[in-house]
Amino acid sequence: MMKDKKYSSYVGSMLCALALIALSSFSVVVEARDTAMLKALELQQAVDEAHEKYKGLKDGKNADYIPILATVPSELFAVVIVTKDGEVFAAGDTDYVFAIESTSKPFNLAMVMQESGPEAVMEKIGVEPTGMPFNSKIALELLKARSVNPLVNAGAIAQVSMVKASSEEERWKKVLGNLSDFAGEDLKLMDEVYKSEYESSWSNRAIANLLYNYERLYSDPEEAMRVYTKQCSVGVTTKDLGFMGATLANGGVNPKTGKRLLDAEHVPELLAVMLTAGFYDESGEWSYTAGLPAKTGVGGGIVAIVPGEMAIAAFSPRLNEAGNSIRATKAINYISNKFKLSIFDGS
Ligand code: GLN
Repeated sequence: MMKDKKYSSYVGSMLCALALIALSSFSVVVEARDTAMLKALELQQAVDEAHEKYKGLKDGKNADYIPILATVPSELFAVVIVTKDGEVFAAGDTDYVFAIESTSKPFNLAMVMQESGPEAVMEKIGVEPTGMPFNSKIALELLKARSVNPLVNAGAIAQVSMVKASSEEERWKKVLGNLSDFAGEDLKLMDEVYKSEYESSWSNRAIANLLYNYERLYSDPEEAMRVYTKQCSVGVTTKDLGFMGATLANGGVNPKTGKRLLDAEHVPELLAVMLTAGFYDESGEWSYTAGLPAKTGVGGGIVAIVPGEMAIAAFSPRLNEAGNSIRATKAINYISNKFKLSIFDGS
């Protein structure tokens, strides 16, 4: 009897302990789900707030040196967060297709880095910010590494010339295929944008020829020009841009498709170039105020990366003097500051 009693109290306390363990792990699960839900609510609220706060802003104007960009409705405005797990939080015109322009540059750079390594990028293009406009020819003459960095036009045209290809068609296919892989969608060339841009590309043509003259271009200049101009004329939505950025936030693996596009060890090198040169001659101010690696385009798109967390993408056509979208800049900056996302914030 005594023995039985002892036994039953032993069983009782075991059951109690098990129940306690079960309860506490249940509360951990519930807590984790709550935190995730709270986080989702907060992120949705943040994109809504950023959109609401700046949608009335009318400063700046569409790019018009590429004639067709002047015809894009200036009122369009979209803000998107894509987490490294592929969750999407969106506000505004997030499915409108616009020209990717220079926001394509870091993603093509990823392919060049993957093919040739970051040392080749440093030697054959350079990684110093210019402090000058994106299409500066003076920068080419002043700086010793003549294509300067991969995110200004000169360096981006040089990138295209470095893509390993034995024909123009193959070069273009690889560039488009890579951008599509980053977006996790089949992206398309916007023919009218390409035509409009290629026909008015006198400044870029001068840059390509100067680079070729200095042996800083590694294919036929006009071929590099055509493929570069097509690269800039690829259509994306703000959501696509978000997924492209989320791939970098996720260490080089697209969260939608699971495909690795850049070795994790090279992601920091790519993000460093984005931080120092992604906003052209406003990169210092952008680092100072938002503290995130990012890339802008004259189509009005901007994508910023919170390493290991998420991408914030925004789109609105009206630009400032440096060629950066005013509303998109402000919206991303707002979200970065709201959550203290600056990579320099140690708190
Ligand atoms: N395709 C544009 C150009 O070459 C890209 C510039 C940009 O988006 N900043 O001028």
